[in-house]
Amino acid sequence: MRHIVLLGSTGSIGTQTLDVLRHQPGCACVEALAAGGHRLDLLEQQTREFHPQLVAVYEETAARDLSIRLKDMDVRVVSGMEGLLGAVALESADMVVTAMVGMIGLEPTVEAIRRHKTIALANKETLVCAGALIMQMAREEGVQILPVDSEHSAIFQCLDGRGPETVRRILLTASGGPFRGWTWEQLKDVRPEQALKHPNWSMGAKITIDSATMMNKGLEMIEAKWLFDVRPEQIQVVVHPQSIVHSAVEFTNGSVIAQMGVPDMRLPIQEALEYPKRGALTVEPLDLFAKSPLTFEKPDEDVFRSIRLAREALIRGGLYPAVFNAANEKAVAAFLAGSIGFTDIFHRVEAALERYDAVAHPQTYTLEDVLEIGRSL
Ligand code: NDP
Ligand code: MG
Repeated sequence: MRHIVLLGSTGSIGTQTLDVLRHQPGCACVEALAAGGHRLDLLEQQTREFHPQLVAVYEETAARDLSIRLKDMDVRVVSGMEGLLGAVALESADMVVTAMVGMIGLEPTVEAIRRHKTIALANKETLVCAGALIMQMAREEGVQILPVDSEHSAIFQCLDGRGPETVRRILLTASGGPFRGWTWEQLKDVRPEQALKHPNWSMGAKITIDSATMMNKGLEMIEAKWLFDVRPEQIQVVVHPQSIVHSAVEFTNGSVIAQMGVPDMRLPIQEALEYPKRGALTVEPLDLFAKSPLTFEKPDEDVFRSIRLAREALIRGGLYPAVFNAANEKAVAAFLAGSIGFTDIFHRVEAALERYDAVAHPQTYTLEDVLEIGRSL
């Protein structure tokens, strides 16, 4: 049985992780929960149900409030980045599920690797920003990173331990989001409430916007490069509106292996928690007859420039992916706040990549360099 620390327990991935444990209580027990502090009622309820020994709340006042609410329980409540780092360092834990949103996940993930915890990685922004650093650390410390993102979980399952020398191409599937087939002109008028409606997946606000812009697919291309050690030109995005094929690997001999399932994040979450075992069914089984036909299209990279921008950032290397990610995080927040338009998200990311002075920042970088990019954009 796994002993997990769940970072981002109140979010979409966090709540679905706990739901997997509700159905499969034998696969893991919860040592610590962590969240930002915006959904205290839920965090309190999760604490009462799963009995962690520690809860980390980033916001200090929310942490104080929670510790008063939980006075009757034997649980420690901590706050700030220090609190998050303390949670991942717990001796009794052997796995950290990184389900918080954004670059805030970087330091706790680094700490988890230092402490030799297996990582169940949902927080893609961390790997996008500091892939070289994280993967090198994980190799040096002998730490396994198990992908939770459905596409990367699929690729991981297709590879089944085979190395990058066996791979010709990664076929990274994408639903295409709510605006598949739209023109650039049409995208200009998209409002937040339209972009927050995803046709297949139910997710947190940031990743739902990322799916609508297809920045999410760009982030996932970069994530795939680091997880599977492939070159940018080996990653082909395939639009597959039904979201049944979660991705595929084309091997050097032309054999293609795809992974399929219903579009339900509890499946890849369970896969990571139970790996290498396969436990009982939690999600609805896949009925291929009901989902037929399955279709595949090329992405429209003239409209969804995000894919092209991500590829460019990946080819340029160094801190370009961190700039791509940080500019996108800021732009999505501005769009959700109503201060910029939908297509401005693309403009902002493009402008940040153009402005970035790579000469001053060579290919190799430190954790502090990445954090500085987050602060400076
Ligand atoms: P949500 O917005 O639903 O949840 C984010 C979680 O992070 C919440 O628990 C939130 O706490 C917590 N959080 C935010 N800021 C902090 C902070 N400063 N310190 C500690 N915790 C914090 O996001 P999702 O669950 O949708 O996504 C999480 C990650 O997983 C993202 O990186 C996303 O890209 C990735 N992912 C998500 C998928 C999905 O289906 N949702 C699919 C694949 C990947 P609070 O409630 O207090 O704000
Ligand atoms: Mg995904």
